[in-house]
Amino acid sequence: MLNKTIIQDLGDYCNNHLWIKREDLIPFSFGGNKARKAELFFKEIDAGRYDCVVTYGSGSSNHCRVVANECCRRGIKCYIISPQEACEKTYNSIMMDMFGAEITIVPVEQVHDTIENKLSKLRNSGLKPFFIEGGGHGNIGTEAYVQCYNEIKAQEKELNIHFDYIFFASGTGTTHAGLVCGQILSADDRNIVGISIARKNPRGRNVVLESIRSYLKDKADESEVQEKTVFVDTYTLGYGKDDFRVDKTIEMVLKKYGIPLDATYTGKAFMGMTEYLKEICNKNVLFIHTGGTPLFFDALRSKA
Ligand SMILES: *Cc1c(COP(=O)(O)O)cnc(C)c1O
Repeated sequence: MLNKTIIQDLGDYCNNHLWIKREDLIPFSFGGNKARKAELFFKEIDAGRYDCVVTYGSGSSNHCRVVANECCRRGIKCYIISPQEACEKTYNSIMMDMFGAEITIVPVEQVHDTIENKLSKLRNSGLKPFFIEGGGHGNIGTEAYVQCYNEIKAQEKELNIHFDYIFFASGTGTTHAGLVCGQILSADDRNIVGISIARKNPRGRNVVLESIRSYLKDKADESEVQEKTVFVDTYTLGYGKDDFRVDKTIEMVLKKYGIPLDATYTGKAFMGMTEYLKEICNKNVLFIHTGGTPLFFDALRSKA
């Protein structure tokens, strides 16, 4: 289903040259990195003849929207466990309802047990549930971004260009891990910079490192893994936290390029990248637009 997403030339930006890879234009359910990951998860689900899916995420989760949509088109049930602390009504949660997902809201400390209970209940009733970690975390999600990395390399050849830097929003760290694994497996040299949207160091970076080791297994050379994993936590206030600089960035990118960014992920990453670029010049820079378009509209609506 997925061919490849376009890389668009945005021209000079902050003394560097900027391109953007439009993962937000993946042609299913508003696209984004969750759509790319879901495509691989659902290959497993189809091949293994699973008849329902259990996953978790907040009311604003792009992952849950995409997974609910994939389930809906197949006519299989989607069970979402959602933490009470973040179950606000958003365009994503409205769509999850529309797709017929069953959403169970529990305090965050009960999420784990609730998932286990749900899975054993389904199995006991003779069903075959497939579990997807929040955000599409895990080796399958990592694989999706190894593939994306290889796609970027092929596009570099076509465009006859080398990207010195790749920036993107790093959340659960799977996208980040996949890109770094792709780089290590191709023995490339460039800077892959994940801008944290919530987690702080060292924990945030450690989660990325764990995903990389889990994917590469014995092919992982620890010093190389350490060296290639750049996780920047200095530009953002935390998950869902308001920052007027992010708002300004979103407005600028929409006005100047006609591209929507959201306040939770891509807007933060773009702002972080802009700050980072103040320290470098004359480089070829690729920003990966990881999606989240419904969240763009949530933020827009809050202004209405
Ligand atoms: C989930 C998400 C991210 C973060 O991706 P991870 O693989 O979890 O790090 C970035 N941008 C958007 C729009 C997302 O929905």
